[in-house]
Amino acid sequence: MHDLARTRQIPPRTSPAPTIDWISCRSKSSTEITMHCCRLLTVFRHFGTGANSGNGLAFRRLTNVGKNSVAFRYSRGYSSACSASTNYGRCSTSSRGGRIFAPARYLSRCTPSWTGSQDSDKPTGSILELQPNDFVDFLKEKKIRRCFVVYDSRAGEVRVSHPELEELVRFSREDRVDYDNHEAVFLEVGARSGCLLGAFVWRTNRGQACGGIRLWDYANMEQYLRDGLRLAQGMGVKSALAGLWVGGGVSVVCEPRERLSLLSDLRASLMADCGCFLSDLNGCLVAAEDVGLNVIDLDNVHMFSRYTTCISEDKGGSGNPSVATGKGVICAMEGALDFLHMGTLEGKRIGIQGAGNVSTIVVEELLKKNVSHIYVTDCHMNRVTDMRNRFPGVTDILQVEKVPLDDNGVLAYPCDIISPCALGNILNADTIPTINAKIVCGAANNQLGSPEDNLLLKERGITYIVDYLANRMGIVNCANETYGRLPDDPAINRHFGREWDNSIFLMTKKMLKKAQSEDITPVEAANAIADKLSLELHPIWPQRSQQIIQALVDNNWHLG
Ligand code: NAD
Repeated sequence: MHDLARTRQIPPRTSPAPTIDWISCRSKSSTEITMHCCRLLTVFRHFGTGANSGNGLAFRRLTNVGKNSVAFRYSRGYSSACSASTNYGRCSTSSRGGRIFAPARYLSRCTPSWTGSQDSDKPTGSILELQPNDFVDFLKEKKIRRCFVVYDSRAGEVRVSHPELEELVRFSREDRVDYDNHEAVFLEVGARSGCLLGAFVWRTNRGQACGGIRLWDYANMEQYLRDGLRLAQGMGVKSALAGLWVGGGVSVVCEPRERLSLLSDLRASLMADCGCFLSDLNGCLVAAEDVGLNVIDLDNVHMFSRYTTCISEDKGGSGNPSVATGKGVICAMEGALDFLHMGTLEGKRIGIQGAGNVSTIVVEELLKKNVSHIYVTDCHMNRVTDMRNRFPGVTDILQVEKVPLDDNGVLAYPCDIISPCALGNILNADTIPTINAKIVCGAANNQLGSPEDNLLLKERGITYIVDYLANRMGIVNCANETYGRLPDDPAINRHFGREWDNSIFLMTKKMLKKAQSEDITPVEAANAIADKLSLELHPIWPQRSQQIIQALVDNNWHLG
């Protein structure tokens, strides 16, 4: 297990846990804030009704903490149960009525995580604790515009561009959670926007690193770095399993102090910065769309760099990926049914969370396959109405209902397959015991709340189809954009077929077979297959991106 206490300079567990005085969270929208609050209330509820009740329920929501932010000050009783590691989005566990209660399991499901703080918090001088915009100020003070951390595979060493950033080497060396000998992390202060831009490159054996540009607000540099490292690795395994000749990477941009949605000039400057950043990285990372960006933003990035995809169709882009993603989810369902000897989709009952873009396609395809019943829930009435209107005349088969945001009752629907197509972190200790289906297979990213939830599914005999296998068609749709388009594109369609080894149907069966024969979970099986594939070298451009990274380092990119 990763030693949080050591790498984050938290007092060792043996010393008394410092108390937390308040806990706060910032998010993109008031809807998300409401959701985060519901989850936090779950924590309080659990804690307050247990052996320590009487300690836990005195908390107060603080006002005037800014739009889309929320903060609670809470009682000594509750806070004394949380260790200082809450500062990093995790809590220690404590015993409740003989059972181990881990607030972390709830809090860590929020994105971004809750941040706990002490009134007596003082800056420790750690780069990892700096808010990214403060890190930018730190870099400016040191007259650093660009910096990098690279992994020298021959020497087996992590190297950093500036001695002032040596702490990042220690962080990489000691981390056992998110750092996985990533080939490079390049950081730059945007010349026009002043924003922190990051390029995280995990592994490029299969080709140029490919992944989205994420625009998000991070509480501190550790969260920022961890998100980038994790996303880059995640994109790498997803693309490898999809048989794409691309590597894993991502760009992460920290929102400036001014809100970008209100300041269109600043947003345009930021996209220009992103484009120049990618161009100067000489193509070791090719960007796509991720949270916080839209197709117009990508068009603006494209004005400054050829190293981006997901641009609009009239500029030669690949357009809306949801159709392909929905069809991919169906192939994964069919692969799972076939593996479990449950036949085809005909006559099956399906429960779907979310009535959005992907699930609309999933429903359309399921109706074509003559399923017996589909039950869909969504927390927005307009989405419910849209879906009902889209499929009139099938009310005996399709039932679409509006539910409250925190109502996950659809997971308990008695059916053959549950398909999470809304948000992530949906499969957790609260919801898994309620599932009545044999199979879980959906489009939502990061469906598992924690690694233990993966085991919980296995224990309950539920076959979980790994999200990055079922929803791969988003990245497939845009990864090969520069190779042009064809009607009924074979480069896309082979993913839906049953001949190609990497097709979704066959890969689903391969993953489940491996999991069964080795008595591991499907997630472990998929990771093992994907990891192996990610090491294969591009047949025409072997190690090209590694050479690019080396050349950037040799030619002092950081001084440019
Ligand atoms: P979408 O926004 O069109 O649809 C999501 C729907 O879920 C919305 O209608 C929303 O109201 C609903 N929802 C959110 N929270 C809910 C809740 N708690 N209960 C019930 N409904 C809830 O998004 P989409 O493009 O259909 O994507 C769905 C999921 O698949 C997302 O997690 C996305 O990240 C993932 N994904 C999408 C693609 C793609 O090509 N669009 C590719 C890969 C992964």
